[in-house]
Amino acid sequence: MLQPVPASGDSLLDALTRYVPGVIYQFRHDPDGRSSFPFASQGLRELFGITPQSVLNDAEPFFRCIHPEDMPILRAAFRTSARTLAPWDQEFRVVLPARGLRWLHGRAQPQRLDDGSVLWHGFISDTSERRQAEARLHQLAHYDSLTGLPNRRLLLERIAQALSALRRHAQVGALMFVDLDNFKQINDARGHGVGDRLLCQLGARLARELRTEDVVARLGGDEFIVLAAPLATEADAAGRNARALADKLRELLARPCDIDGVRYASSGSVGITLFPKGEESAEDLLREADIAMHRAKAGGRNRIAFFEAEMQAEVEERLALEQDLRRALVAGGIEVHVQTQYDVQGREIGGELLARWLDPVRGPVSPARFIPVAEETGLIVALGDFVLRRACQALARLQRAGNGLQLSVNVSPHQFRRDDFVVCVRDSLRGTGADARGLVFEVTEGLLIDDWQDTLARMQELASLGVRFSIDDFGTGYSSLAYLKKLPLYELKIDRSFVADVAEDASGAAIVQAILSVAGHLGLHVVGEGVETPAQAEFLRAHGCHALQGFLFDRPQPISDWLDRRLQPLPLAAD
Ligand code: C2E
Ligand code: MG
Ligand code: MG
Repeated sequence: MLQPVPASGDSLLDALTRYVPGVIYQFRHDPDGRSSFPFASQGLRELFGITPQSVLNDAEPFFRCIHPEDMPILRAAFRTSARTLAPWDQEFRVVLPARGLRWLHGRAQPQRLDDGSVLWHGFISDTSERRQAEARLHQLAHYDSLTGLPNRRLLLERIAQALSALRRHAQVGALMFVDLDNFKQINDARGHGVGDRLLCQLGARLARELRTEDVVARLGGDEFIVLAAPLATEADAAGRNARALADKLRELLARPCDIDGVRYASSGSVGITLFPKGEESAEDLLREADIAMHRAKAGGRNRIAFFEAEMQAEVEERLALEQDLRRALVAGGIEVHVQTQYDVQGREIGGELLARWLDPVRGPVSPARFIPVAEETGLIVALGDFVLRRACQALARLQRAGNGLQLSVNVSPHQFRRDDFVVCVRDSLRGTGADARGLVFEVTEGLLIDDWQDTLARMQELASLGVRFSIDDFGTGYSSLAYLKKLPLYELKIDRSFVADVAEDASGAAIVQAILSVAGHLGLHVVGEGVETPAQAEFLRAHGCHALQGFLFDRPQPISDWLDRRLQPLPLAAD
C-alpha cells in the first residue's frame, strides 16, 4: 500500500512543482471526518490565496474559498469518489478577496489507505479564461451583435423548447414576424449609423416592454421576431391575445425614437402564426410567420395578418363586430330588456336588466357574443353606464309610483374597477332621483379573485349608498367561503347550468343543494336563474331557494313595455 508523501518545504517535489501552473496536491479524508492536504504545491497561493502550510493539517481554509453554491456539489462528488474510488473530476468556482470570482477545474485519483482514509492525488488548474472565451463565443453564436437580442440560432432553440412545452401542457402560443415598413428609407436617407441606432432603440424597447417570458429576437435587417408562449389554452383566446399583442407591438414601434435630437417614427407589419398545430418544426413556424408578414404587407403597411385563414377570418369578424358595436352605442342601437324575478309564491319581486343589440345588417346579436367584445375593448364602460342609467330612471319611476320592485344590473369587472365607477353610480342616482335601495348589482366571481382589497373597499362604499350585491352565475367560479363571508353581499344567483341539471341527474341536484346550504349559512338571498321547467321550479322551491327567474315564467322584454305594465293604473272596479 502507498503511504502519503510528507509535505516538506524544500523537498525535491516542492522544487519540481513550484513553477507548474495550477496546484498539484494530495488531499486526504480520514474516517473521523477530518480532511487535510498532506501536500500542496506553491500554486495554492495563487489559485486560492492560501499557503500549503495552512491546510497541511486541516483543509478548512481551502473550503472557505469555494463559492457557497458549488459547495454541496463538491462535497457530493468527493463522497462518490471516495466510495467508488473513481477519479474526481469537477469544475467549480472560488471567490478570492484579491482576484474575485474564478473558475477552476480539479481532477484527482483516489486511493484507499490501510487505516480507511482516502487519499487523492491530483491537480487543479484555472479555467477562467477558457470559460470567458466560451461565454464570448456563446454570445457571438447566439446573440445579434448590433442589438444584443437573441439571433436566429437561439430563437430556433427557444421555439423548439416552447413547442415541446406547449404540446406537453396543451397550450397555445404565437410566433410573430415584425418587419419595419419605412426602415430602408431612413437607412438610405440618414445613413447606416442612424439606421443602426434606430434598430437598437426599437429592439431594446420591445424587449423592455413585453413580458419577460416573451422572446424578442432579431433575424437581421429590420426583421424582429416575438415568441409569446403560452398565450392561452384555447386557439380562439390565443388568437385574440395574439392580436392584442400585435397591436401593442405596432404601438411600440410607432412611438418615436430620438436620435441626436431628431425624432423618427416607425411602423411595422406583423405576421402571426399560432402553434402547436401538428408536427411542425421551429423552422416551419418561422416560415409561416414570414408568409403571414408578407400577407400583412400586401394588404397595405402597418397591418397584421394571421397565417391561419380561419383565425384571420375570426379576427376580422371580431374587429368588424367591435366597430359596429361602437357605432350602435353612439347611434342608440342598444336597448335594454327586463326579465322578471318572482318569489316562491309567484309574486313579482323585481327584474334583471339585460342589454340587447339589434343590428340593422346582422340582426339580433347575442350578448354572449358582444359582451366579451365590449369587455375586451373597454366599450363595456359606455354600455354599462347606459344600462345603469336606464335602471335608475326606471327605478325612480317605480318608486315615485310607490312600487317596491327592485332592479338588478349586471356590472362587468372592467366597469366595476374604473376609478370613476362610484361617482358614476352616484350621478345616475342623483340625476334620476332613484333610491339606491332598489338597486342590485350582479357581479361575477372573477371580480372577487383579483384585487381583493380594492374590490372589498369599493363594494363597501357602494353598499353604504344602499346598493345591494349579488353574485351572478354562482358556482361556475372559484369563490371561497372565507371570501364570501367578508363581502357585503345580499344574494347569490345559481347558474342556469346547475338549474338545468337539477331534475335530470343527482350530481346537479347535489350542487344546487350545496349552494343553497352555503347561502343559508351566510344568510344570503338566493335566486335560481334559467328556470325552464315546472320540475326545476319545484325542486328549487322545495329546497329553500327564495326567488326564481327564467323562460318558464317569462322572456326578457323591452324595458318600456315592462315598466308600462307595472305602472298602469289599476282598472277601476266596476260597481
Ligand atoms: P346573466 O346575467 O346570467 O343573464 C341571464 C341570461 O340567461 C340572459 O341571457 C337571459 O336571457 C338568459 N335566460 C333567462 N332565462 C333563461 C332560461 O330559462 N333559459 C335559458 N337558457 N336562458 C335564460 P342574455 O340576455 O343572453 O345575457 C347573457 C349574459 O350577458 C348575461 O348573463 C350577462 O352576463 C351578460 N349581459 C347581458 N346584459 C348585460 C349588461 O348590460 N352588462 C353586462 N356587464 N353584462 C350583460
Ligand atoms: Mg345577470
Ligand atoms: Mg347569470
